[in-house]
Amino acid sequence: MSDPMETYGEMWEALGMNLRAHCALLEAIPQMYQGAYLGQEGRPEGMKYFDFVVSEIHGLRIQELMEHKAKGGKVVGTFCLYVPEEIIRALGALDIGLCAGAEWGYNEVEKVLPRNTCALIKSFVGFKMDRVCPYVESADLVIGETTCDGKKKAYEIFGEMAPLYVMELPQMKRPNDMAAWRGEIDRLVVTLEELTGNKVTAENLSAAIAEVNGKRRALQRLNAARAADVVPISGKDALLAVQVAFYDDVPRFTQMVNAIADELEQRVADGVGVAPASAPRILVSGSPMAIPNWKVHDIIEKSGGIVVAEEMCTGSRYYDKLTPEDGETLDDLLDGVAEKYLDINCACFTPNTARFDDVIRMAKENKVDGIVHYALQFCAPYQIEAYGLEKAAKEAGIPVLKIDTDYSMEDIGQLSTRVEAFLEMVKEPAAV
Ligand code: SF4
Ligand code: SF4
Repeated sequence: MSDPMETYGEMWEALGMNLRAHCALLEAIPQMYQGAYLGQEGRPEGMKYFDFVVSEIHGLRIQELMEHKAKGGKVVGTFCLYVPEEIIRALGALDIGLCAGAEWGYNEVEKVLPRNTCALIKSFVGFKMDRVCPYVESADLVIGETTCDGKKKAYEIFGEMAPLYVMELPQMKRPNDMAAWRGEIDRLVVTLEELTGNKVTAENLSAAIAEVNGKRRALQRLNAARAADVVPISGKDALLAVQVAFYDDVPRFTQMVNAIADELEQRVADGVGVAPASAPRILVSGSPMAIPNWKVHDIIEKSGGIVVAEEMCTGSRYYDKLTPEDGETLDDLLDGVAEKYLDINCACFTPNTARFDDVIRMAKENKVDGIVHYALQFCAPYQIEAYGLEKAAKEAGIPVLKIDTDYSMEDIGQLSTRVEAFLEMVKEPAAV
């Protein structure tokens, strides 16, 4: 393999990156990937595409973004599912879901953020402070949102270092909240029109909606195959596909995921799986797992379980609902965008019982033996909401294991012991 510094060093330097720190990060990711992914047996052939994408995580895709910018295009970074990528794309800009899944630059971060801030927030501030993320550095604008308090306040600091626009997200879903959110969508349109110099029209928005729906449909197909008795793909691989969905080229990604879905459907028909039929089937629900956070899936699957579904932002919350395609006017289409996005069931909302309904429905559809509730430490919305989710699961007769963790590797031994005990318990007939 060629030296990435030789191939991309000039590009990273032009982006103003901290090359020394970035080299250390680039050395760490392949090691993590190797440990979690490359030892898996019987992976679908189609996952080779994702191996390649990860090997080029700060290379080829960044080069594509640079080429887009050289032609006058814009790059817009986002941190949350509530930012409608269809509007960004309708204006000819490229949207990038900024990763925040690795412990990085914490020494610097903890000078500006309390230690007891969730790992995801520390990570995105750390990546920016240390200038190690070429996606953040290539963004012409980053769009934040008023979701949890930690993110909302961290954006005030982040905004001192990068061009930032913050959308105000309601915390309830009453008709007046929808009206306020619809107004935010209009303000976003104005902001992005100013950034790009283009206008949103019914035609370009329709095309962008169809394109993004195509990506979500491909992910739906991939994930539907996991409901089979013989599971054709590991949870880790399925998680990776959603993580990559946030920054890959949309038409290419859709094509590659549809190809994997074809392969998985064939595997299901042929009874080819990646885990024995006796492996406990697990649904993971909770805080998002941004790339390269594969920790909990890795522990579950190395302990003999198989993850068959994720109710999280890097899972079903991202792909299960489509944006309406049938609006005739621009206003109709924007109404549909507003409705689709406010319908996401994030724990920042209250009440958020629709999330419990989603989890129970998915648990039944995927015939799960148990639910692992994953919350990042200091993520109050998900940590607190775990109570209601456990109650709903108990009523449905599904065991739950609650895990609170961060990005460090220090608790792997302890978590593995708890997960192993849980997997043994869920396979006991009396436990269900
Ligand atoms: S958990 Fe909520 S705040 Fe976080 S990315 Fe998902 S929707 Fe946004
Ligand atoms: S994981 Fe939780 S605390 Fe962290 S940014 Fe998301 S909602 Fe906020």
